[in-house]
Amino acid sequence: MTNVVLASGNAGKLRELNLALNPLGFSLVSQTELGLPSPDETGLSFVENALIKAREASRASGLSAIADDSGLCVDCLNGAPGIYSARFGDGTDSGNLQALLQTLEQGAYPSPWRAHYHCTLVFVRTADDPDPLIAQGRWRGHIINSPQGEGGFGYDPIFYLPDLNCTAAELDRETKNRLSHRGIAAQHLSSLLQDL
Ligand code: IMP
Repeated sequence: MTNVVLASGNAGKLRELNLALNPLGFSLVSQTELGLPSPDETGLSFVENALIKAREASRASGLSAIADDSGLCVDCLNGAPGIYSARFGDGTDSGNLQALLQTLEQGAYPSPWRAHYHCTLVFVRTADDPDPLIAQGRWRGHIINSPQGEGGFGYDPIFYLPDLNCTAAELDRETKNRLSHRGIAAQHLSSLLQDL
């Protein structure tokens, strides 16, 4: 097994990525477990921020590293909240969701409010790897103005999937993992790692 550091402290992400990457010979350990610091995310895009996190984790650990960055982009807001999704409102899931609904309602933007979730996953062999592996996933939907469903997290209760006639918060975990931006990016990263 090749040890790789995951530049995140999220136990759910660690478990899911290990499930996908263990069969390929990669074993992920979280940066929290190694006591590594989290750098400031100073990029303007998901990919820049993911690379900042992966390079720093690799530099601090001496291992290859994987990092992700994700968020919600709303078309009529020119992609906002985007890389600021985790702190669009007061930083809580419900505060961020209410801040987004308030912005959309105050701007009187015509509906449907088209949006997509985005996830970038990057793999760097070393801190200064000039050729990182970059995998991306997008999940399209609409923002609705009244939350529905108890599952998921973040903006899921207002992220409506027209094809499924429900919100992301109404999907079971396995279905969400299969369809979501994160699931798609993880599948892409697996195929890129197979060709490494
Ligand atoms: P992170 O980069 O995965 O930590 O996600 C950043 C922010 O994007 C989260 O705090 C959420 O606000 C939002 N986000 C990312 N993925 C999801 C998702 O699957 N559901 C709901 N919100 C998400």
